[in-house]
Amino acid sequence: MEFSHVRAVDEAVADALVGETDRQRNTLSMIASENHASRAVIEAQGSTLTNKYAEGYPGERYYAGCAYADAVEELAIERARELWGAEHVNVQPHSGSQANMAVYLAMLDPGDRILSLELEHGGHLSHGHPANFAGQLYEVEQYRVDPETGYLDYENLADIADEFDPDAIVSGFSAYPRQVDWERIDAVADAVDAYHIADIAHITGLVAAGVHPSPVGIADFVTGSTHKTIRAGRGGIIMCDAEHADAIDNAVFPGVQGGPLMHNIAGKAVGFGEALEPVFTEYAERVVANARALGGTLADHGLSLVSGGTDTHLVLVDLRDSHPDLSGGDAEAALEQTGIVLNANTVPGETRSPFDPSGIRAGTAALTTRGFDEDAMREVGDLIVRILDAPDDDAIIEAVADRVDELCAAHPLYD
Ligand SMILES: *Cc1c(COP(=O)(O)O)cnc(C)c1O
Repeated sequence: MEFSHVRAVDEAVADALVGETDRQRNTLSMIASENHASRAVIEAQGSTLTNKYAEGYPGERYYAGCAYADAVEELAIERARELWGAEHVNVQPHSGSQANMAVYLAMLDPGDRILSLELEHGGHLSHGHPANFAGQLYEVEQYRVDPETGYLDYENLADIADEFDPDAIVSGFSAYPRQVDWERIDAVADAVDAYHIADIAHITGLVAAGVHPSPVGIADFVTGSTHKTIRAGRGGIIMCDAEHADAIDNAVFPGVQGGPLMHNIAGKAVGFGEALEPVFTEYAERVVANARALGGTLADHGLSLVSGGTDTHLVLVDLRDSHPDLSGGDAEAALEQTGIVLNANTVPGETRSPFDPSGIRAGTAALTTRGFDEDAMREVGDLIVRILDAPDDDAIIEAVADRVDELCAAHPLYD
């Protein structure tokens, strides 16, 4: 990754691109929504398809010259259908948020009611936060996790649904470490005659590999991102039954988007192809085993995990019990000095602010891509605790940073 063509015309951007690549090589990416796409995916995303206009869908484009655009989009669709088993797939959403936006546009009218998980409890902005268009266009009510257990409170959801009478219930989350019982949420949606939209943005890869139950065939619509656990480069995806195919396709284009990002769709095709290999299932299993190893280590050191553990790629730590004086933001900043990159996160029953909350969230998708095993994850857990216990101790920060350098060198990236 020399970026020699960029360097020839633009030193400043080339410096940033090299800097970012080196940053990823020399730090531990533990942001739960991030991963390291393969060089093949990145090459496809950096291809000449960025030049191509292909408004419409394969075989019915509004522009000439779409033979190769059609080829990559058909491959992406075919592979996605094989990965997730959906009747209909749309691979054009520019991102996960656009995928959600298109489903709302297809199925709801302004003023309709959406019931979704509170952001503070692990939901997502695109599920109807007031700052998001969905919160402005639709009437939104929220459900919560059980503050004691950290698990989804399905009874609370059913009660609120009864009262609120939503047109759509959104499931699928950004900071929920446990398996989701899609059937149970679907039964609530059925009982109040609402659509069920399952947003699997974080766990697309875990669902594809069968290490997390799939909502496909249960929820009416399944939306997702393609760059998190599925590792197929930047983008979004929508899956549904054949009966909603036209409504979804029309909502994506021309409803909320113009020309598809064909270079990104090429990345999706390549990444989905990689995910169809048996080795991807092993990868997804290791992601979860690594998250359990990380969570176990943190818990052994006395940290409180929301829900007490994890079934997925992420752990959510509530710092209030073990480190009442340390905010999530301060923890994030101290860890970043050592090359451990994760994010501060709200926790259920948040008592600080969304800008400097009480928790940290850590994921294992990216480190597992680099070959980290459970022993290595346990060591990373130990390093995290050393910093949380002494966030201002320069000697400890230096020692941990040295060890992070060694771990990075032992797990090379983009060699
Ligand atoms: C990450 C995420 C998305 C998609 O985000 P984009 O940044 O728009 O791709 C959507 N929903 C959930 C639950 C997410 O975690």
